[in-house]
Amino acid sequence: MGIRENVIETLERVKIAANGRDVTLIAATKMNDTAKVKEAISAGIEVCGENRVQELVAKKEENAYEGAGLHFIGHLQKNKVKYVVGEVDLIHSVDSVELMEVISKRAEKLSIVQDILIEINVADEDSKHGINSTNLDNILQAAGDMKGIKVRGLMSIPPISQKKGDNIVYFNEMRELFIDIGAKKYDNVIMDFLSMGMSGDFEDAISCGANLVRVGTAIFGARIY
Ligand SMILES: *Cc1c(COP(=O)(O)O)cnc(C)c1O
Repeated sequence: MGIRENVIETLERVKIAANGRDVTLIAATKMNDTAKVKEAISAGIEVCGENRVQELVAKKEENAYEGAGLHFIGHLQKNKVKYVVGEVDLIHSVDSVELMEVISKRAEKLSIVQDILIEINVADEDSKHGINSTNLDNILQAAGDMKGIKVRGLMSIPPISQKKGDNIVYFNEMRELFIDIGAKKYDNVIMDFLSMGMSGDFEDAISCGANLVRVGTAIFGARIY
């Protein structure tokens, strides 16, 4: 199947899983060129997620994301913050107070407020970025003093599912965290977005409360590294 058919089918699957809730399908565009990104947008994708700064800059120059929103979903290094802040609607992957501070400073310089999510390493994997949930209070307290950012929710990348249902335990853990934080009063924090679920498990993630899902392979086919 082509990208157009994949987008239509994936949007339909998202809609069914969402069961009337508002869920956004983010096309994870890494390693897919401008022509493919444009094809996905013309087929109905409303938000693209890029996870490498270099690709984001290059594709932006080619107007790849025209007609869609743009999120940054990959690991962000402090020295690359200037290429991302103000260029994307939402940064999903903030995983330290220091990174948040650099983003906030850059946004203040541009006189904007950058929306961000905090990335949680929900399965506590050594190979993954993201904070341990025990450090979440600390990072959310720190956000209260930062004028250039607004925390809009949480993101997680659990282990790759081997079979359907594998990640439900992590998705539920994320939902509980999301609800807990939402019930507490933190300055500068609103729990609007829960970003979790990829090609192998986005329907489970949606059932567990995700309202942003990041899907690459199911739209663009397997990536050749
Ligand atoms: C690549 C990527 C995805 C999409 O993964 P697929 O399994 O191809 O759907 C989602 N989130 C992030 C952060 C990614 O880098």
